[in-house]
Amino acid sequence: MLSGGFGKVGIGRKVKKTDPLLLFKDCRLCPRHCGVNRLNQRKAAPPSFCGESSLLRVAHVGPHFGEEPPITGKNGSGTVFFSGCSLKCSICQNHQISRDGLGNTISVHDLYLRLEEMIRVDKVHNINLVTPDHFFPHVFELVTLLRRNGHDLPVIYNLSGYQSTTLLAWAEDFVDIYLPDFKYANPALSKHLSNCKEYPSVALDAISVMVRQKGFLAASVEGTSLAKKGVLVRHMILPGEVRNSMDALTSLFLEFGSGLPISLMSQYYPVLPQEGRDLNRPITQEEFDRVYAHALDLGLENLYVQFLDNGTSIEGCPPSFLPDFHQKNPFLNTVPKSTI
Ligand code: SF4
Repeated sequence: MLSGGFGKVGIGRKVKKTDPLLLFKDCRLCPRHCGVNRLNQRKAAPPSFCGESSLLRVAHVGPHFGEEPPITGKNGSGTVFFSGCSLKCSICQNHQISRDGLGNTISVHDLYLRLEEMIRVDKVHNINLVTPDHFFPHVFELVTLLRRNGHDLPVIYNLSGYQSTTLLAWAEDFVDIYLPDFKYANPALSKHLSNCKEYPSVALDAISVMVRQKGFLAASVEGTSLAKKGVLVRHMILPGEVRNSMDALTSLFLEFGSGLPISLMSQYYPVLPQEGRDLNRPITQEEFDRVYAHALDLGLENLYVQFLDNGTSIEGCPPSFLPDFHQKNPFLNTVPKSTI
């Protein structure tokens, strides 16, 4: 059960109960630890890695049907796509919002009203906050508002895996389900694609904290097939990087055992030109088969798999699930992300 209110220990200092926005001053919300003052909103582009000031910005709010079955259910997952990102991968499938900064400023209260409408009209099964960590103070306030007004849907943090363990400790009371990525086991690859060679160790530490807080995602709860609590880790196979995927799965297995729910994704599409490596194409069937076979060899018991024929990898054509955040409904053509 979530509870409202602030006043826990912040990033190495006490945060006043009434002023969580102070976390934006000397910002260390993510492991980049920029230390910039994001409260200074007069600058159009503050020198923060995520590119965001303390003004909350959102690119899209709406029901989404492209998540794993226990998240999507019948009515969809109630997503909020935040602008900016603390990782900014060069291969990001959502680059329009994560790298280009597409989105509009909105107050926490107005965002709450939009969520309330989505809950009432669309009857979504959960609130799915996509890349929310660089706006955590606003997000905690948003979740508090939801709870105070009687909305007890599971709250999901849909994350890159590059999270501060200190912040996760603070977030614990404001989240039910974590959907972190584990993108890279190879530090050279994470340096190349995300300017972050420490990603593998930071992400494993972060996922450990998430699992300690919420346990593994239980897909069947109280006779429904909808998830209410827990952790599901996602990994997207990259072209030419089969070894990275196999090592990533092995690392997760060694760290958490065979019961960790993992979603294996094949949807990579080269949305931006990539220098070096073999990333200017979708993955091949052979690459997928090798990684999938490794997952089976490891004996992973809770594997969600996005098979290649599930809307992916048609040479030269963007896959049907690739979002376009310039459209009112960016996911008009999405297909469900994965099957068990
Ligand atoms: S949230 Fe943004 S400004 Fe804060 S430390 Fe991370 S990248 Fe830097």
